[in-house]
Amino acid sequence: MKNLKNALLLKQLYQLKQLGYRYTDVNLFKEEEPNLSLPNTLKSLEKQAKECHLCELSKSRNKVVFGEGSLEATLMIVGDFPSNSDDSAGKMFSGRSGDTLTKMLENVLGLTRADVYMTNVLKCRALDTQTPSPAHAHTCHPYLLKQIELIQPKIILAFGELAYQYLTGDDSSISEVRGTVHEKEAYRVIPTYHPNYLLRNPSAKKNVFEDLKKVKALM
Ligand code: SF4
Repeated sequence: MKNLKNALLLKQLYQLKQLGYRYTDVNLFKEEEPNLSLPNTLKSLEKQAKECHLCELSKSRNKVVFGEGSLEATLMIVGDFPSNSDDSAGKMFSGRSGDTLTKMLENVLGLTRADVYMTNVLKCRALDTQTPSPAHAHTCHPYLLKQIELIQPKIILAFGELAYQYLTGDDSSISEVRGTVHEKEAYRVIPTYHPNYLLRNPSAKKNVFEDLKKVKALM
C-alpha cells in the first residue's frame, strides 16, 4: 500500500514538472488519484461536471463551463480555464476573446462555432491568479480526457500553454511550440496563442492566422 501511495505521489510530481513547476507546497498532494467514475455519454458527463465539488474552485464558481459545440466535430478547441464572463454566462469564449475566436473560425477555416467542439482544461474559473493550481488542473483532467474519448476529434487546437502542456505532457513554452503538429494515437494537437493573448498582443494575430491555415490544410 505504501508503495502504491509513493508511486501516485511520484506521478503527481512528474505532472507538476511537466507544467513547469520546480517547487511546490507539499500540502497540494493527495495520496490518491481523484476518484472519478465517469459516464459514457457527453450529456451525463456534463451533468456530473455541473455537480462536481472535487476541488475548491467549486466554492467560488458561478457556473461550471463544461464545453459546447458539435458532438461530431473533427476539430476540438481546448483552452485553459473559464474567464469571468464565461463563468457568469456558463458559456465558452463568451466575451471579447469569443468574438476574436468566432472571426478566426469563420474567416480562416470557414467554420462556425457550432461546427467545432470547445472546452477548457479546467471547467471552473480559477481564482485570484491567471494560472490555476496544478492540483486543480490535475483533479479536473479526467473530464477533458473523457470528452476527447467521446467526441473523437481528428485535430485538437490547444489555446495557450496550459492546454498544450496537459494535452502533450511537454513543458515547452507556447512561443516555442506554436504552429507545430503533435501526433497522438487518434488525433493531432496543434498549439497556438489563446484569443485572450491576442487581445493584449494584436501583432500575434498573424501567427495564429498561419497556425489556422495549417489546421485547414490538415482538415
Ligand atoms: S474545476 Fe473541475 S474538478 Fe474542480 S470543481 Fe470544477 S469541475 Fe470539479
